[in-house]
Amino acid sequence: MTIVEARKPDPKKFIKGATGDWEVVIGMEVHAQVTSQAKLFSGASTEFGNDPNANVSLVDAAMPGMLPVINEECVAQAIRTGLGLKAQINLKSVFDRKNYFYPDLPQGYQISQFKQPIVGEGVIILDMPDERVEVGVERLHLEQDAGKSLHDQHPTMSFVDLNRSGVALMEIVSKPDLRSADEAKAYLTKLRIILRYLGTCDGNMDQGSMRADVNVSVRRPGEGFGTRCEIKNVNSIRFVGQAIEYEARRQIAILEDGGSIDQETRLYDAVKGETRSMRSKEEAHDYRYFPDPDLLPLEFTQAYVDELALHLPELPDDKKARFVADYGLTPYDADVLVAEKVSADFFESVAKGRDAKMAANWVINELFGRLNKEGLTIETSPVNAGQLGGIIDLIKEGTISGKIAKDLFEIIWTEGGEPAAVVEARGMKQVTDLGAIEAVVDQIIAANPDKVAQAKEKPTLLGWFVGQVMKESKGKANPQAVNDLLKAKIGIE
Ligand code: ADP
Ligand code: MG
Repeated sequence: MTIVEARKPDPKKFIKGATGDWEVVIGMEVHAQVTSQAKLFSGASTEFGNDPNANVSLVDAAMPGMLPVINEECVAQAIRTGLGLKAQINLKSVFDRKNYFYPDLPQGYQISQFKQPIVGEGVIILDMPDERVEVGVERLHLEQDAGKSLHDQHPTMSFVDLNRSGVALMEIVSKPDLRSADEAKAYLTKLRIILRYLGTCDGNMDQGSMRADVNVSVRRPGEGFGTRCEIKNVNSIRFVGQAIEYEARRQIAILEDGGSIDQETRLYDAVKGETRSMRSKEEAHDYRYFPDPDLLPLEFTQAYVDELALHLPELPDDKKARFVADYGLTPYDADVLVAEKVSADFFESVAKGRDAKMAANWVINELFGRLNKEGLTIETSPVNAGQLGGIIDLIKEGTISGKIAKDLFEIIWTEGGEPAAVVEARGMKQVTDLGAIEAVVDQIIAANPDKVAQAKEKPTLLGWFVGQVMKESKGKANPQAVNDLLKAKIGIE
């Protein structure tokens, strides 16, 4: 069978080896913890950070005779996610047992979905700097998480914490459509944004609620797929990029040396910045998958799916398109604003009834810049949307200049208050009284006859005069009026 690939080799992405160009091929398996108060097949809590074994029901501990009962909310969350990935929703799916032994897996098998997952093919769109990449989603299935073995609590003993045991995960599998570390990072970033918008996974990689298995292979451009290695459980987007760069180089070196790649499971060591072998790759048949006899096939109606679709929030791609079309934002600014739903909402409340580009500028440059510097977020911002909008209104009305507005922002940031009232109280109003400005202009012109003569020949010197007048008026003179007056008095067209 020949595989028809959607993507053509792109020389810009090739990696140079000692003997020529190589192309890297990447596919991702992401485990996303379903946002749900209870586990997939039991009523135990999913709360993070509780004492070991505080969140364990008899089902999660696999006591003999206990039966799993499907949690409808987890099913709804998987369907919402499928809809958000524009994917095929399967009205009938089947839970299977994936059999393996591990101390933190008391059932001796994981309940997962194998041949008939709840969600089929979908797509994730990446807006890369100079191209739009469509990454195929192969499938999404529901499965249970395992517990955790604790080896560093005692010198000679290991412990098992079953808090995670039975927590619902969505495994989201991409097609091998990614061609660089940057694309892989963009894929994870985008997937995380979509999950957060949907409210189906919080996307916290540092708490383990999103983990990525990264499949990497290399090949000569134009050839079929090479043998892949799977790098397990990489827990940050940056590390995913580093692991791919390292792994691709490692494989290229082996192949150029005349060797061959062993299909294996590897680990990324973030301290050393390298991947290392963990075990040879297991095959599906090693797990002896079979349908779980404790669970009926999972069936629901199209009407149920339609109902969930009806209540889906606006997704980042749609929001971005709307921001560009309705507010006239650049795609770049729109991207920055839609990266988090709270920032998009914040922007919209600032922009409402105002100059949207100006609103975007103030939100992105002044507010986000300041929040980043202070390690704060929109939720903890000392300046709210109403206050930022108030500052913009004052600029628009001509009450303050853009420069004074920055001082005002600083005051509101540290002391709070209502912008118009602060401007009033502190006498920050812009001087638009032409008589007052003219007096200053005359004074500066009279004091600098040489510069006036030069400016007649070289009009760019006007800027120097504007600067002097603004300085003299402590930034409060209306810059447009200053400009006009200076031009008229010096005699510049
Ligand atoms: P498994 O569960 O055995 O890991 P799959 O066949 O479902 O298996 O593939 C898992 C992931 O590996 C998918 O994300 C897929 O895109 C990716 N993948 C498959 N073949 C390759 C390849 N040659 N190079 C890189 N990634 C690949
Ligand atoms: Mg795998």
